[in-house]
Amino acid sequence: SNEQESTAQDEKIFVAVRVRPLNGKEIAKGLIMGKLHSFSDTSDWECVNTTTIVFKNNPSERSTYPSAYTFDRVYGCDSSTKQVYEEGVKGIALSVLNGINSSIFAYGQTSSGKTYTMSGITDYAIADIYDYISRQIDREFTLKFSAIEIYNECVRDLLSHDGAQLRLLDDPEKGIVVEKLTEANLRDCNHLKELISVCEAERQIGETKLNEMSSRSHQILRLMVESSACEYEGSDSGRTLAASVNFVDLAGSERASQTLAAGTRLKEGSHINRSLLTLGTVIRKLSKGGYSHIPYRNSKLTRILQNSLGGNARTAIVCTMSPAHSHVEQSRNTLLFASCAK
Ligand code: ADP
Ligand code: MG
Repeated sequence: SNEQESTAQDEKIFVAVRVRPLNGKEIAKGLIMGKLHSFSDTSDWECVNTTTIVFKNNPSERSTYPSAYTFDRVYGCDSSTKQVYEEGVKGIALSVLNGINSSIFAYGQTSSGKTYTMSGITDYAIADIYDYISRQIDREFTLKFSAIEIYNECVRDLLSHDGAQLRLLDDPEKGIVVEKLTEANLRDCNHLKELISVCEAERQIGETKLNEMSSRSHQILRLMVESSACEYEGSDSGRTLAASVNFVDLAGSERASQTLAAGTRLKEGSHINRSLLTLGTVIRKLSKGGYSHIPYRNSKLTRILQNSLGGNARTAIVCTMSPAHSHVEQSRNTLLFASCAK
C-alpha cells in the first residue's frame, strides 16, 4: 500500500566500507612529501577486524573526530571485489529471484573505487543469477534490462543513443515509470554483458563531451526478473514473481560536500546534490526506522528507486574511500555518510 511505501522499513540497510590501494599518483605524492619511508598515506586507515576501521595517523587530530567506525563489514586495500560481493551484497542482490526488489549502491568521492567495485559486483551477481536460473526446472524466467543516467536531474536512457531527456510518470499500477525507457528483453547472460558494455561506452562518450560527466552523474543498471511456475496450472505455485535489482554507481560525493560549503549557489551543483542529498536523507530515515515521512519525491534518483528502497525492498551500500592522507577530509565525510546509513 501507499502507506507502507512512504514509511520506513524494519530491515536494516547493509553498510560496508572499502578502502582501495594507494594509486601511483598518491605514492608519488608521498615521495615528494618525503613520507614514503613510513608509508604514512597507506596507514591513515586500518581495518582492525572485519567490522571496524580505525584512523591511526596524526594523534593531534584524534580529539576532533571519532577514531574508530563500525559497520556491517569493512574491507582494506588487500580485499577482493569477490569478497565484498560474497559477504552481504550477494544475498541482497539475489533476493530478486524471490520477487524482492533490491538496490546496491556505491558511494564515495571520485576515484575512490565506486565504478571498480560496482562493476565487479554487477558481474558476479549476473553470473549467479543466470547460474541459478539455469538450474530451475519448474520455473520459467523472463529477464529484462534497462540503464539510466541521471545528470543535472535529467534522466537519460543509456541504451538509446538519441540523448533525449526522459520524464518520470506516476503510473497507478506500476508506481514511478520512466517514460520511453528501453527495456531490453534478454536472451542470455552474454547478451546482458554486451548491453552493459554498451552503457559503459555511452557513459565514456559523455565523459569526454561534458567535463568529468561520469563523476557528476548517477548510473542505474536495472535487471528485472519475472518468473512463474506453470507445472500446476491454477494452483498457487503458478503465481508470477516479479522484482528488480538495481546496481547504482553514484556521482562523486565530493560535489555534495563542496556545494554544501558553497551554500548551494551553483545550479549544477545544487541539482547533483538534490539526488545525492535526498538519497542521504531517505537512507538516514529508513535506517532510523519508525514511521516518519520518507521524501522520495524530492529527487529523480529517489523517485526512480522508490520501489527498491524501503518497504519490503533490501538495500546494500558499499562506501569506497581512498587511503591517502590528502583525501582524509573526503574519507571522513564518506564514513559519516556510512554511519548515518547503518
Ligand atoms: P570512481 O568510480 O569512484 O571514480 P574508479 O572505480 O574509477 O573510481 O577507481 C579509480 C581508479 O582506482 C581506477 O583506475 C581503478 O581501477 C582503481 N581502483 C579502484 N578501486 C580499486 C581496488 N579496490 N583495487 C585496485 N584498484 C582499484
Ligand atoms: Mg566512476
